[in-house]
Amino acid sequence: MDSRLEELTAEQYVERQRELEIEAREAYPYKFDECTYSKGYLKQTLYACLTCQRKADSLNGVCYSCSISCHADHELVELFHKRHFQCDCGTSRTGHEPCAIRKTRDDRALENHYNHNFEGRFCSCDTFYDPEQESGIMFQCILCEDWFHDRCLEASNQGKSLPDSESFEWVVCKDCVLKYRDCLLNPQHELPYKKEELVAPHFFDEQFREHLCQCNSCVEIRKTQMPILIEDEPVYEQAEDSDMDEETNFEVEDARSLDDVVSSTMQDVLHVLDQLPRVQAIEGVHAYNRLKNELTEFLLPFARENKVVTKEDISNFFLERLNAGKNGG
Ligand SMILES: [Zn+2]
Ligand SMILES: [Zn+2]
Ligand SMILES: [Zn+2]
Ligand SMILES: [Zn+2]
Ligand SMILES: [Zn+2]
Ligand SMILES: [Zn+2]
Repeated sequence: MDSRLEELTAEQYVERQRELEIEAREAYPYKFDECTYSKGYLKQTLYACLTCQRKADSLNGVCYSCSISCHADHELVELFHKRHFQCDCGTSRTGHEPCAIRKTRDDRALENHYNHNFEGRFCSCDTFYDPEQESGIMFQCILCEDWFHDRCLEASNQGKSLPDSESFEWVVCKDCVLKYRDCLLNPQHELPYKKEELVAPHFFDEQFREHLCQCNSCVEIRKTQMPILIEDEPVYEQAEDSDMDEETNFEVEDARSLDDVVSSTMQDVLHVLDQLPRVQAIEGVHAYNRLKNELTEFLLPFARENKVVTKEDISNFFLERLNAGKNGG
């Protein structure tokens, strides 16, 4: 182990905690302190605030930062990615209060679209998502961006079981197969199903765009109706996410200071938290704060005794906590 840390006295350490907190926050790929409203329409992670919905009598979707900074104690539903959406926080869709980040009230975004997910309901079965109760897997249709239970997709799959989840990358729900039929033609201009009554959800691999017809008129139709069938849509927060190396989980290269080690490690932990399927962001943030406090306690004796903290120590600390967190926490 050559990644030695600077030795710190307890006093220096505590002093650094404040800086560290700021640094770790900054290191988080999704900053909490910037509302996306001013960036206009984006494909981004959204949360529906049911509390504000009842108050304002309007559907809403708020950005990641607003879900934490403005609606943390409200009843939130995580919607994952939705395309072409401007944050509704601080507009008439969330009530009379300004956004706590922007400190302003602004015009509501007229181009936002709302489906039943914004009321907390999902899938063709139109039921509320309850993370405590839900045991199955949910898939997001890449076209309508609704979420579907595996069992419900299977029920509409013409009696066939679902393909192995390793074998496909994208799901297009049954309704979208019908609705976007002109976008899904193959080079022979055939529909992806034979008869109307045989319409089923479609499971595409990564190369599916290459199997679609590339003639001018087909490309034009896709461009206007569903551009994601031509190329990937950038997702707002993933731009910052791409720096992180998933292969080197918990590895901290050339760490020189405690700050570096902790903030890099926190970054990895947050990344892992974020990879968990449909973890509520609020739970993620609570877990983050809990881990940070525990990390502080864990490191204090090292600092007091001027002991060297290795990256192994920190990795083990987090792995233990992550595992413990799954059984209760
Ligand atoms: Zn916002
Ligand atoms: Zn709210
Ligand atoms: Zn806000
Ligand atoms: Zn369902
Ligand atoms: Zn769909
Ligand atoms: Zn064509």
